[in-house]
Amino acid sequence: MITVENVSKSFPGNGTPVTALRDVSLAVDAGALYGVVGPAGAGKSTLARCVALQERPDRGVVRYDGLNTTRLDGRKLRDTRRQVAVVDTRLRDERTVAGNVALPLELGGVDGPQRRNRVGTLLDLIGLTQRAGDRPESLTPGQRRRVAVARALAAAPSVLLADDPTRGVDAEESGALLTVLDRARAELGTTVVLTTPDASVARRVCDDVALLERGTVVESGKLLDLLVKP
Ligand code: ADP
Ligand code: ADP
Repeated sequence: MITVENVSKSFPGNGTPVTALRDVSLAVDAGALYGVVGPAGAGKSTLARCVALQERPDRGVVRYDGLNTTRLDGRKLRDTRRQVAVVDTRLRDERTVAGNVALPLELGGVDGPQRRNRVGTLLDLIGLTQRAGDRPESLTPGQRRRVAVARALAAAPSVLLADDPTRGVDAEESGALLTVLDRARAELGTTVVLTTPDASVARRVCDDVALLERGTVVESGKLLDLLVKP
């Protein structure tokens, strides 16, 4: 369970500070697929970075299972950060698809057979088992994005954070990508947080959503409840 409590964040900007987040609160249940929806500039990426512990709020608190992360540093911060993986869309073109997915495992010192096993599970999850030995550049944009998701999942994070995952991916491939996020939640038990400017993306897979406008949560809750509201 992650809670964001009254988080505010500003950036210096050119002369006048820009308020990216203003008193934002939300709660992400363990095992949920949570969507943060809002237009460009609403503060989605800033919120995602705060949740991923890459950015410290100016005010307010981010809690992981009750633990206040705001004042953590050094080893404790690194340990807590390890629970969350952010999807990084930049793949290593000199490595194979499997090699990209295996990267966090190699860095984590996971041994060969175990690595192979885990990579195999993840390639199956993303539907790219047949492409294990291919270079990422031979894949479509949507397939590449799925490889990026698999790599983020490799070290078995409890939380997966995907900032605008379908950006630059066409409608058909977006469906396959969202299915992968849904499978991560259903089959691996990963809590997934995604941001998107596209309400239809959230509608397709999210259980819970927060609508963000100009740094403020204007609505949040179960997607179904929000949809039936007048
Ligand atoms: P979104 O992801 O919804 O498009 P962002 O979180 O990227 O929104 O940005 C929210 C606001 O904060 C925007 O006005 C943006 O220009 C500003 N902003 C975000 N990050 C920075 C930064 N590192 N420095 C200055 N301004 C920033
Ligand atoms: P690279 O050439 O990019 O280094 P490799 O193909 O040699 O990549 O594989 C890198 C990692 O991926 C290794 O840990 C290997 O065990 C694993 N791996 C390679 N192919 C597969 C596969 N088909 N299924 C599961 N894991 C694989």
